[in-house]
Amino acid sequence: MIYLDAAATTPVRPEVLQAMWPVLSGTYGNPSSHHEVGEAARAALEDARRRVAAVLGCRPAEVLFTSGGTEADNAGLKGIALARRARDPERDRVVVGAVEHPAVLESADFLARVHGFSVDVAPVDGLGVVDPDAFRALLSERTAVVSVMYANNEVGTVQDVASLAAAAREAGVPFHTDAVQAGGALPLSVKDLGVDALSLSGHKLGAPKGNGALFLKSRTPFEALIHGGGQQRGRRSGTEDVAGAVAFATALGLAEAERLSGGAALAARRDRFVAAVLDAAPGALLTGHPERRLPGSASFCFPGVSGETVLLELERRGIVCSSGSACAAGSTEPSAVLTAMGIAAEVAQTAVRFSLQSGTRQEDLDVVARSVGEILGRFAPA
Ligand code: PLP
Repeated sequence: MIYLDAAATTPVRPEVLQAMWPVLSGTYGNPSSHHEVGEAARAALEDARRRVAAVLGCRPAEVLFTSGGTEADNAGLKGIALARRARDPERDRVVVGAVEHPAVLESADFLARVHGFSVDVAPVDGLGVVDPDAFRALLSERTAVVSVMYANNEVGTVQDVASLAAAAREAGVPFHTDAVQAGGALPLSVKDLGVDALSLSGHKLGAPKGNGALFLKSRTPFEALIHGGGQQRGRRSGTEDVAGAVAFATALGLAEAERLSGGAALAARRDRFVAAVLDAAPGALLTGHPERRLPGSASFCFPGVSGETVLLELERRGIVCSSGSACAAGSTEPSAVLTAMGIAAEVAQTAVRFSLQSGTRQEDLDVVARSVGEILGRFAPA
């Protein structure tokens, strides 16, 4: 099998499994317990927190472990919005980018439906880039929080988070970014980005599913979403998943090292693949920004041939990819991301996303590009 669906999930790294094993077997204590085995678990947890903080360039106390990217996004948006409005009832609006993941869009919708917030959507251009002027114009004295993703999961477009976050800071509005796809692919220094909150997910980096983190800058107003025993300084109750935190920290460290040593080579393999697909399949469109995109992202529309047909034919040849986000797999609706970018519904229905990882080999990519050419040669309308 040639696996080109790393944006959906990644295999667990052997080093991550190795790092988890002692925690699952020997250091099984509850990190809140004050005996030896509890304290050993606490030490493993806090060591993981320090390692995550080192990658983000923040303080360990600013790292909250979560059950994944979805929870981190929910906490980043709802937790800040609710706290901000509790202090200042006039702050009853949130701004979100038009091509956010459902974890952000549905959180915004919840704030509107249940808590009476208004949601302002920052539009994107045809390449998926948030319009900076339109974004600035949405910021007001009434904005409680904004959320704009670092990089898009369907088309790979990277936003200029630093300049959007600077505009939000000038307006006195906390800035959350969903960096789930950016982890291991783009620099994650929260100081350089200037963000107040940032979400990450372990399973996109080589950890098992069900773990992630939220960076929450100290003194950012935050209302916990999960209440209970007051773990993680009361910001996220529940006995911590120590093995998950260790897995997450280990995977993030490895992914970051790979980014530094091999990110440019991955982008070069991707560029050659994109050129080969466009060559083999005349009429194909690259979606998203041609340069400002994740190094492993190659997403296309193949007008005239449904995305499902291409996926099925590729899978018959042992090649696995997706038509868009994994959450929308099987849906017959055109992608909301592509339609927000102004792509017509019938073209959006033809989307195919290839997402590469550091181990993806050029010779496999050459095979995939040739296969795409054959499939389109067979199915494209004359
Ligand atoms: N945000 C983005 C951009 C994603 O791509 C994903 C996963 O597909 C998520 C959030 C959700 O992360 P998780 O699967 O860890 O809940």
